[in-house]
Amino acid sequence: MRRLRNVKIVATLGPASDDYAMIKALHEAGADVFRLNMSHGGHDEIRERHRIIREIERELDSPIGILADLQGPKLRVGTFAKPEEELVEGQAFRFDLDETKGDNTRVCLPHPEIFKALEDNTTLLVNDGKIRLRVTKHGADFADCVVVAGGAISNRKGVNVPDVVLPLAALSDKDRADLEFVCGLGVDWLALSFVQRAADVEEARALVKGRAAVLSKIEKPSAVTSFEEILAVSDGIMVARGDLGVELPVQNVPPIQKRLVRRCRAAAKPVIVATQMLESMVESPMPTRAEVSDVATAIYEGADAIMLSAESAAGDYPVEAVQTMNNVAIEVEDDPTYREIIEASRVAKRESVADGIVSAAREIAETTDIKAICCFTQSGTTALLTARERPRVPIIALTSLRGTARRLALSWGTHCIMTGELSRFKQAVVNAARAAREAGHAGPDDQIVVVAGVPFNVPGSTNILRVAPCDERLIFAADPE
Ligand code: PGA
Ligand code: MN
Repeated sequence: MRRLRNVKIVATLGPASDDYAMIKALHEAGADVFRLNMSHGGHDEIRERHRIIREIERELDSPIGILADLQGPKLRVGTFAKPEEELVEGQAFRFDLDETKGDNTRVCLPHPEIFKALEDNTTLLVNDGKIRLRVTKHGADFADCVVVAGGAISNRKGVNVPDVVLPLAALSDKDRADLEFVCGLGVDWLALSFVQRAADVEEARALVKGRAAVLSKIEKPSAVTSFEEILAVSDGIMVARGDLGVELPVQNVPPIQKRLVRRCRAAAKPVIVATQMLESMVESPMPTRAEVSDVATAIYEGADAIMLSAESAAGDYPVEAVQTMNNVAIEVEDDPTYREIIEASRVAKRESVADGIVSAAREIAETTDIKAICCFTQSGTTALLTARERPRVPIIALTSLRGTARRLALSWGTHCIMTGELSRFKQAVVNAARAAREAGHAGPDDQIVVVAGVPFNVPGSTNILRVAPCDERLIFAADPE
């Protein structure tokens, strides 16, 4: 679906957004990619949400990205008898291995390894650090705590143990089963939680076997330290500010976000800024000014995508949350200061023919009256390199591979269109002109820039730049062959 902005919107699906009407409304409001969170919901629910997204995609004949997010070695409490329990400062609370539903005095924490690693006075944090507890007594199957900072606790809320190094594998048995399940369904991105080192990503990649692009969530201090190595083996990155702000002092998060967004753009890999972007909209139809400013900041920084979590998955105003992001994006991208920031942070390093061609395409498009940059891409590389340029004119990515089109749904500014298999460049130019006209970016008297690698179907072979008229008769007149 054609958007009036470049930054992409990722919406997490959940109980508040699991039927056809709501998912369609979210897509129409601006969600480009849907996130299926494997931490919540069983396989049947995930399968149904996946089916609905693909049904909407078919109806609209426009690629939609699906990102499946593995829970990873994230510690989560079990379930409660009531929807929610309120813990108050000073009260006692126990975590144990008993799977019966929790109440105001106890809940299951189904991770035996954590009880082994605990020490007296260790801090436990629940629900993105909102609830803070201190361990007073612990054994092989329990931890008695006193609540230091109270709050609401409910089913499967995350638990962090910032002071203790926990001996956890990169992928749990559940993650391996979920990975096979979602790859079987067919997802475009697979997000890995609690990545600590590049080897974790490689371990997952070996299991994925090319069935999805792999995105690493940066939410552990060790992932920040090893970021360059992790980026090198990942197809994309998420700045997972929820856990990051629990595992590290919260004031460390903004500088890390800025650095990661810049590094990802330089590497031409999509980056998502995630978590609590419009948190108050879980309960309110209006965001706070600070939240609007936070969304705007991520866009000014040049992020590829911004994400909604509980706002769209479990909140009262999922559509309004997407609309808010969409409206903020349109306003920011229209601001001349946005362009100045984006220009100033463009990487100047050009190492390959492809780098040179996409850069030239942008310069030509911006110095003359060119309506769009159309790039032919099979692996997605040419489109990613074009997106890295962050051009002022729209990017139309043409591909014959549906998987590529869906993956690019996450990338800044790329509007993806399916084409048939191409063998001749002239046919490609005709298709590009038609696509630009049909998308409403150009009229018959306009010109476009076409970027491609010929022969087609050889990844990384970007070697052609052509300025072409949008009128097919002129294309044939210029090149009757
Ligand atoms: P989560 O990851 O929503 O799966 O916890 C995002 C984050 O931690 O920010
Ligand atoms: Mn997380």
